[in-house]
Amino acid sequence: MMKETFLGVDVAPVTYKRVISEISRNIDSGEQSTIVAVNPEKVMEACKDEKVRELINSSTLQIPDGIGIVWASKWRGGQIRERVTGIDMMSYLLHFAEQKNLRVFLYGAEEDSVSKARDNIEKHYPNITVAGYENGFDGNEDQVVQQIQDCQADVLFVALGSPKQELWIRRNKEKLGVKVFQGVGGSFDVWAG
Ligand code: UDP
Repeated sequence: MMKETFLGVDVAPVTYKRVISEISRNIDSGEQSTIVAVNPEKVMEACKDEKVRELINSSTLQIPDGIGIVWASKWRGGQIRERVTGIDMMSYLLHFAEQKNLRVFLYGAEEDSVSKARDNIEKHYPNITVAGYENGFDGNEDQVVQQIQDCQADVLFVALGSPKQELWIRRNKEKLGVKVFQGVGGSFDVWAG
């Protein structure tokens, strides 16, 4: 897929549906997908820090999570026409996981928040399998990786804030059989209500 570049940061010209079809294709060909939401703050961070830019650009799908990116793309004749937000992308992925019987794991946020998010997700998607969850403050990294592995998670949402969550995904993705990773920032707090 041809990416569009904003101040050196790649963004995929995708819609929610296109992300799901790309992921589906990657699953069929045995490739992992990593989704990162690109908003103006991340673009600014990437301008200051080459490592952040590289981290974003090395993800599979950089979703256009900012109206400024949509405007900039339109202005220069690009193809990005709508915002694809991290929180709504997570809902599309949850729906996809429910339909395809993919096992979901939630990692990050405070204990109270992630456990309530799990409850609310299960209410909202009655046929989903949330295989496990872990808060973002206890437990060492190897233990968390083991736990995710033991749960045989297919879809992993990581809510540790940026760029912590993207760094975590990059460090650990090869150790995991997870098919889809999404860094979701404060989304578990939103799901917790
Ligand atoms: N968080 C965490 N572990 C940490 C630091 C943060 O689990 O070591 C969680 C925090 O509880 C919150 C989320 O990460 O749920 C960060 O959300 P925020 O909205 O700040 O992230 P952003 O989207 O701005 O990157």
